[in-house]
Amino acid sequence: MARILKSRGVSISMQKLDPYLNVDAGTMSPYQHGEVFVTEDGSETDLDLGHYERFVDQNLTSSSYATTGQVYSAVIASERRGDYLGSTVQIIPHITDEIKRRVHQVAHESKAEVVIVEVGGTIGDIEGLPFIEALRQMRSDVGRQNVLYAHVTLLPRLGVTGELKTKPTQHSVKELRGMGLQPDLILLRADSFLADGIRAKVSLFCDVDESAVVPLVSAQTMYEVPLIMEEAGVGELIMEKFGLTANAPDLEEWRHVVERIKHPARQVKVALVGKYVELVDAYMSVREALYHAGAYHDVGVDIKWVESDLLQSGAEDQLAGVDGIVVPGGFGYRGIEGKIQAAKYAREHGVPYLGLCLGLQMMVIEFARSVAGLKGANSTEFDAHTPHPVIDLLPEQRQVFDKGGTMRLGSYPCQLVPGSRAAEAYGQEVVHERHRHRFEFNDLYRKALTSKGLIPSGILEDEDLVEIVELQDHPWMVATQFHPEFKSRPNRPHPLFRGFLSAVIKRSEERAASVPLQKERVA
Ligand code: GLN
Repeated sequence: MARILKSRGVSISMQKLDPYLNVDAGTMSPYQHGEVFVTEDGSETDLDLGHYERFVDQNLTSSSYATTGQVYSAVIASERRGDYLGSTVQIIPHITDEIKRRVHQVAHESKAEVVIVEVGGTIGDIEGLPFIEALRQMRSDVGRQNVLYAHVTLLPRLGVTGELKTKPTQHSVKELRGMGLQPDLILLRADSFLADGIRAKVSLFCDVDESAVVPLVSAQTMYEVPLIMEEAGVGELIMEKFGLTANAPDLEEWRHVVERIKHPARQVKVALVGKYVELVDAYMSVREALYHAGAYHDVGVDIKWVESDLLQSGAEDQLAGVDGIVVPGGFGYRGIEGKIQAAKYAREHGVPYLGLCLGLQMMVIEFARSVAGLKGANSTEFDAHTPHPVIDLLPEQRQVFDKGGTMRLGSYPCQLVPGSRAAEAYGQEVVHERHRHRFEFNDLYRKALTSKGLIPSGILEDEDLVEIVELQDHPWMVATQFHPEFKSRPNRPHPLFRGFLSAVIKRSEERAASVPLQKERVA
């Protein structure tokens, strides 16, 4: 929705209201919620904010994300301060007011014409009630003509008969009405084609115009969804409801990216070595950043998800067939030695390598152990008594005991070293990138490592912290202490992912060219 409004020149902003009690997404397991996304201003959020930023190509801020935990903490703090002296503090109006205040704040800060607010969870969840009620009140606060309610429902398909069932949609609309809300637009999610008559049926039972019942069948790439919605008339419907006039939608650039993603000229294979390979959501932004860079180079990126535990005794079996290796971020000891093996394999075999946060730490540890002769080198996160803590906490981090929101978070400037691969990829001298980690490259080992060919190619100047490292004698082995994946957009792929994929493509072409030669030799 945001993309199609933006394509008309309407200014937009977005917000996710997450009804769970956690104060932020930072302490939640990727098993349950997928990746933790980080905004420029250092807020740890649900991965949906990553989608928002990618779809609208706009940085969002901490205001764009609110949970029940944040809302209640704010109201209870006000109560303790005595802001409500004399009153009974209640869900309505105090909690609902705080929710509305946060919605207005996004509108105020962004000055956007339209703010799209998504409430997480499912209609009927107990935790969701105050949020739905707040949005209901919004209708009289800002005027009926200024609020549009869109309801996303699922049409399950019965395996035996292949029939799509509208009952859950009917029931959730009934439930919504019980809360005083009537949807203006119903988006029907289905895994495959909707038979004739389904829209009419939903329209009749749910009292929504048939033109406002929009099928959303799973697409080949999610970037196609705005095009499908535009085609279905959603853009016009919203414009009409709000009485907005604007330009005709310009989705050309977007269409081009979608075409490239759907029909790449050729494929390359990249291994993503992670702890949660059964759960691609945990590496959502990394996956998307690879796809964006692929679209830029007109190649499809075939990601081989490799479970790091499988690499512990050597990486040959899993990594022999790939043209690039990515080691993404992570926490905790499990899978570490496997990731170190992946870095070793990349270094020894000249395979392009991109390390992201933990991926930098793995590369440094491997280099320290294998090249600089620092036996037993490690991060103090994994071995508190390592003889060579090449990755360690900064002294000020040692005093921090709370887990929530206490990492180095959000955007920091990074000075690039001229002539390095990183500087070449960015084509800039200073860049700003987002962080989410506790441990750092240990400066005490900088000399020992650089003298052997590890190049610190990005530095946080004020504190002289190493932010990027790369290898001198290698086609492309670059790793960052920050998370470049958070800033990649389909229409503006991240420079480091672009640079990495250039190297991957080069290697895959060289390998393809060398195969017939080898065959000839055998013949
Ligand atoms: N666990 C590491 C640290 O805290 C890396 C974090 C990450 O990859 N995001 O420094």
